Amino acid sequence: MPSPEVRHRIEERLDELHDRCLPQRPATVDRYYRSGRGYYPPADAGPEQDLFGVSIATVDGQVYEVGDSRVPFPLHSISKVFTYAMALADNGPERVLERVGVEPSGDPFNSLRIDEREMRPFNPMVNAGALVTNSLLRGVDPDEQLARMLVSLRAFAGREDLEVDEETLAAEVQTADRNRGTAYLMRSLGILDGDVEAILRLYLQQCSVHVTCRDLATMAATLANGGVNPASGRGVVPRRLVRDVLSVMHTCGMYDFAGHWAFEVGVPAKSGVSGGLFVVIPGKFGIGVYSPGLDVYGNSVRGIRVCKELSDRLGLHVFASEEEDAILTPTAPALE
Ligand code: GLN
Repeated sequence: MPSPEVRHRIEERLDELHDRCLPQRPATVDRYYRSGRGYYPPADAGPEQDLFGVSIATVDGQVYEVGDSRVPFPLHSISKVFTYAMALADNGPERVLERVGVEPSGDPFNSLRIDEREMRPFNPMVNAGALVTNSLLRGVDPDEQLARMLVSLRAFAGREDLEVDEETLAAEVQTADRNRGTAYLMRSLGILDGDVEAILRLYLQQCSVHVTCRDLATMAATLANGGVNPASGRGVVPRRLVRDVLSVMHTCGMYDFAGHWAFEVGVPAKSGVSGGLFVVIPGKFGIGVYSPGLDVYGNSVRGIRVCKELSDRLGLHVFASEEEDAILTPTAPALE
């Protein structure tokens, strides 16, 4: 438990980081996304340009937050992490690996390309992979699958009121042609089986669950804490499976920017098109960022900037030397 002075100092640093990253050159933002509206250029964006929240949740249950950290937004692709964890727990890693690979695709997240050598989607972080992951969730019917998924998401976030936002879902269902196409293509190849429409709906439901960036930080902290939510003390995923989840986040979590991210920032992360981004620092803390301006890959521009800076300042990169590690170095406590 940090002293009030340490807490205050960390809050000050976070405020400073937020204020510095708030102004951004419009040229760095390629587009925005809203369910139903689809992608639109920065020139057509309104107040969403200024939405920006950052939150950090530590493995000892502390939460720090700044800016729009309590504004709800849809999980979108970030949800893929949690359903992958569920599929692993439901089926065991071997069986899941037979159906979904762990290879970065180098393609955009909504690519129709699949790994033809292995006849499975490249990884669970692209849409094709997430659709197959969804089909592997245990449940007698889609309602039970959804109910179990919500139980898991709520446990990750420590919030019993996480729900599918019905407006978002309706808009996503209306505009799901590409995901529908991906699902039917996979069924025609024998990669996906079962009721395609039901699987697609389950996928869109998980994308439409509303969270805040504070929730994202806690969800990340649950993974950082070996699968146990640090606030509730409740186990959500077996520790052994957390390793699998983080490995895939590390290599595939940032779409076709994943290699660059691993090189520069060097921490397991996952982003979504609504502008959410979450990062796991195993054994230490989770970071959640929300800011809707996206780059050409579909990653939050401010999200990347904040995480890069935190990683540099705190020596979070997995291959950083111990001297760079400000958390291990007693003279430079976290966030100083
Ligand atoms: N709902 C979006 C889709 O399926 C999520 C994609 C994303 O966040 N990258 O296309």
